[in-house]
Amino acid sequence: QGDTADYDREVKSVCPFCGVGCQVSLKVKDNKVKFVEGIDGPANEGRLCVKGRFGFDYIHHEHRLTKPLIRREDAPPKGLNVNPGNWQTHFREATWDEALDVAAKGLKDIGGRGVAGFGSAKCTNEEAYLFQKLIRQGFGHNNVDHCTRLCHASSVAALMENVGSGAVTATFNEIENADVAIVIGANPIENHPVAATYFKQFTKRGGKLIVMDPRGQALKRFASHMLQFRPGADVSMLNAIMHVIVEESLYDQQYIDAYTENWEAERKHLADFTPEKMAKICGIEAEVLRDVARTFAGAKSAMIFWGMGVSQHIHGTDNSRCLISLALMTGQVGRPGAGLHPLRGQNNVQGASDAGLIPMFLPDYQPVGDDGVRSAFQEVWQDGQIDPQRGLTVTEILDAVHAGDIQGMYILGENPAMSDPDVEHARDALAKLDHLVVQDIFITETANFADVILPASAFAEKTGTVTNTNRQVQMGRPAVPPPGDAREDWWITVELAKRLGLPWTYTHPSDVFGEMTKVMKSFDNITWDRLETQSAVTYPSLSPEDPGQPIVFADGFPRPEGRARFTPANVIAPDETPDADYPMILTTGRQLEHWHTGSMTRRSRVLDAVEPEANCSLHPSTLRKLGVAPGGMLRLSTRRGSIEIMARADRAVSPDMVFLPFAYVEAAANILTNPAVDPYGKIPEFKFSAVHVEALDVM
Ligand code: SF4
Repeated sequence: QGDTADYDREVKSVCPFCGVGCQVSLKVKDNKVKFVEGIDGPANEGRLCVKGRFGFDYIHHEHRLTKPLIRREDAPPKGLNVNPGNWQTHFREATWDEALDVAAKGLKDIGGRGVAGFGSAKCTNEEAYLFQKLIRQGFGHNNVDHCTRLCHASSVAALMENVGSGAVTATFNEIENADVAIVIGANPIENHPVAATYFKQFTKRGGKLIVMDPRGQALKRFASHMLQFRPGADVSMLNAIMHVIVEESLYDQQYIDAYTENWEAERKHLADFTPEKMAKICGIEAEVLRDVARTFAGAKSAMIFWGMGVSQHIHGTDNSRCLISLALMTGQVGRPGAGLHPLRGQNNVQGASDAGLIPMFLPDYQPVGDDGVRSAFQEVWQDGQIDPQRGLTVTEILDAVHAGDIQGMYILGENPAMSDPDVEHARDALAKLDHLVVQDIFITETANFADVILPASAFAEKTGTVTNTNRQVQMGRPAVPPPGDAREDWWITVELAKRLGLPWTYTHPSDVFGEMTKVMKSFDNITWDRLETQSAVTYPSLSPEDPGQPIVFADGFPRPEGRARFTPANVIAPDETPDADYPMILTTGRQLEHWHTGSMTRRSRVLDAVEPEANCSLHPSTLRKLGVAPGGMLRLSTRRGSIEIMARADRAVSPDMVFLPFAYVEAAANILTNPAVDPYGKIPEFKFSAVHVEALDVM
């Protein structure tokens, strides 16, 4: 905190961490951000969490990249072996012209399907749009993806299939009009902290909060019901709840008749899922399941929020199908205080997905296989043919590198050397590439494997729009210049595209946004000028004066005949089940102070001071059995590998589980995780691996 004497100007922008999208005021003096305050954005109304308030100083960190780098000819073999003290052994500084020429030539020489791209949910909408266009137009295929594949791809698959749209049906702030809410597989107090403040206020007004999670959590204190179900048993629990709603005729027949299809199939399917039978599988008593069913179905208005605890399973799409069915059968969509809301993770994962940074869809989820869609894009893009075949996903791309089918990659702001499941497999793939171009603000673990590193901009150094979990498109503004020769990401991508021979003439992000409005109906009535003056507009916006619709689908769905669909879900066991060799369950996630692969928050002084060391959490009784005191060291091993890590005692974790945060490179969680994927969303099963735990420091 500071007063006006501590800064000479302030700039309004958007927090760079989670999908809540809090608006911030950056207080600047001498071209340094001195402190940050929350301002009155539509999602945060002045509130900020610890990351938004204190996690900004990474932008001035001494490790920031300030010059383009090219791998030295005499560099040691590629590996996770670059650090701030030895980078000169691996790379040499270059001019922008040289670095861009080398980057483009390497990609061009490989060309076509030999090249793939990972864009970033940390970049702006305009940068995401340019990135997918560069891969599609420059290389003639759709092998472009980003971290949505690792967080909510299965939720989007289920929403697209059954509701016809991948975004939320209501903003999280709508909870103020609800009387019941379910929060499942999410830990908002740690991961969406400002959204959690609205959830807590809702309970203070008397709202009933039903929390469902295999791990206990702080929101439990505010819950009317806490269902700590068995890991992986989501479908059996949710189907049992829906069984009660059918059995006791608590469903909304009028809504079902007017707005849905396939109800009879769903109803029949649920007949087998009696609470008594499912209680044994999910570990929740039948009476509790019945009470939750009656509470939810009895609500005037109810919302369902979910997070990666739902999505990161091989049955993630089925989990979301159940949540959608629950909302549809009770008519809880399209009204104030009602709706479906997957809490999006990264600050711009909604926007990057909307902008087409996914292998099966062009911007606005328009299928690449549709001839009309492709010709509309080709008309606007005016060069090259768009491939009708869906591209490869994140994990498929790395498999294709191992198979020798992909030899070159352009990676912007993603860190697969930390974020991918079975990460040694990902690191080996990166090391195998003939040509890797990485664009980032630090020498990340992924940049360790690069041939060319292009120094990019942090959020406080760039102009561009981002879209939060609420569908609110917000303007980010530059407060300070990028350090040294670092440049804005849109500029770097445009320069690379020109060297690949693409006829791009963009001179400002507003040019890109203008093009996006021509191909994305979701941006109807949203203009750059509007965003400059209003800072945020929710899509859909029905007129140039409409601030946007917080609730959608009041009069039907963007599907055939306007009807949403029930898709019955079966129980599928996790890919790995605990056995004698690996008897416990490993689940991974975030902590309040750290963000994803830690590249930003571990370089933020306050956040790193609060949470400086890699740690995992186990129930105190499990630690006692292992003979380890809190603070002692454990070895965690799965079929993929082992790590050594400090133990914490946490009663929220059930005795057969280990909770492992994934921000720490020195004990990388993804050395252990299972790469098995959901067949629809292609999302890996980060939330369930069989693990062996061994004490290294016995009491
Ligand atoms: Fe930033 Fe999310 Fe915290 Fe808001 S809740 S300040 S967007 S990390």
